[in-house]
Amino acid sequence: MSSYDVVVIGAGLAGLRAARVLEDNDLSVLLLEKSHVVGGRLASRVVDGFVLDEGFQLINPAYPELVATGILESFDLRRFEPMVRFVRGNSSTTIVDPRWSPLEALRTLTSRTFRASDLARTAKLFAHCGLGPVAAILGEDDCPTRVGLARWGISTAMVDECIEPFLRGTLLRDGLNDSWHYTQLLLRSFFRGRPGTHPSGIAALPQALAERLRSTDIHVDEEVHGVTGSSVTTEERTYTCAGVIVATDPSAASILAETTETSWLGQTTWWMSVPNECGGVGLRIDVTERRFSSALDVTSVARERSPSTRRLIAVPANGTYESREHDLAAANYVARLYDVVANDVELVQKTVVAHALPRFDGPLRLAKTSRRGDLVLAGDYLQSPSIQGALVSGRRAANEVLAALGQKK
Ligand SMILES: Cc1cc2nc3c(=O)[nH]c(=O)nc-3n(C[C@H](O)[C@H](O)[C@H](O)COP(=O)(O)OP(=O)(O)OC[C@H]3O[C@@H](n4cnc5c(N)ncnc54)[C@H](O)[C@@H]3O)c2cc1C
Repeated sequence: MSSYDVVVIGAGLAGLRAARVLEDNDLSVLLLEKSHVVGGRLASRVVDGFVLDEGFQLINPAYPELVATGILESFDLRRFEPMVRFVRGNSSTTIVDPRWSPLEALRTLTSRTFRASDLARTAKLFAHCGLGPVAAILGEDDCPTRVGLARWGISTAMVDECIEPFLRGTLLRDGLNDSWHYTQLLLRSFFRGRPGTHPSGIAALPQALAERLRSTDIHVDEEVHGVTGSSVTTEERTYTCAGVIVATDPSAASILAETTETSWLGQTTWWMSVPNECGGVGLRIDVTERRFSSALDVTSVARERSPSTRRLIAVPANGTYESREHDLAAANYVARLYDVVANDVELVQKTVVAHALPRFDGPLRLAKTSRRGDLVLAGDYLQSPSIQGALVSGRRAANEVLAALGQKK
């Protein structure tokens, strides 16, 4: 068949979500993907038996739109313990979610590394973000995150030595100048869910979404070169349709749909292996080292991701680092944090992702316009740069097409 009700271009999370909503409304859907697999920026690969992701990322089961997909019920999500060890020279402090381990939380309080008033205010902020309605977060004026934290009375020392190092790896930017609204939504998801990974890597998530599609035709290895509101042209042929969703990354959308090009934030991840003895707290941060965001023992929850007894540690950094000098620094970072000699730290592979997150500056604007002439757009760059944002944008785009076709069930 070369005629469909709707053609969706791009099988990342946004395209997969859009396809599902459209087929649930009894439309015939074609999903075209230029790569050989679905998933877009959620990709994994196996190197020497280690399962690595194309860039370090975690799945938060509290993302409402991820819950709405229904896949989590049968998804083997391995959640990390909600604790972080902050290391400064020879001393270290572990901050833990008191709901997970009240005793460990009490130990942090009595260690006096962080002021009790700061810990209390930070806990109050988390609870405010996690328990209150989203409207309470979005209702206030947006501002840089640093300013928002200062309004809560949290000291600069706490921000610089705990909160900024913790959030840097998620925001993919240093300095906490990002939208306070967005940061609070992130804190909300951390309060409500424990992020995790999958034994087969992050690619298992789009794979699970694709497997749940019932009637959508998925064509991989088929790149779209031209599009109008009623036709889509690839190398192979031209498809006719009543509606089109351009669910590509923003760079491809700028070519296909002539939208404004977005600038990108990059991420580098060193995937290291260390001896099995290096157990203990999975997530560690050296607050004196600004280059690397953290070191996370992926095998602490997913042993399957290592072919041997060695542990797999992910070390993400904001930006792109190609040089060998940084590889050595990353190995030393792991050696310091996991108390092992540097010679025992082996680099499995480094992933350098120049186009990781679409960059947005200034206030968070959820639900940016998703139409460009006859074309409907979807993608994280229209919502928020996250799994949640991509999925929401896919649903919204599908609803827009359904409304245009008068088809909503
Ligand atoms: C390194 C990294 C770390 C991240 N960390 C996190 C995290 O911890 N938590 C979180 O929530 N989010 C994280 N994200 C963000 C999250 O992965 C993205 O927001 C989400 O995957 C974007 O999905 P998308 O569908 O909008 O776009 P994409 O995944 O980019 O999908 C677009 C698809 O369109 C296809 N395409 C492009 N052009 C064409 C064409 N001409 N024809 C056909 N197909 C085309 C592409 O091949 C791709 O498959 C991270 C991302 C990266 C890369």
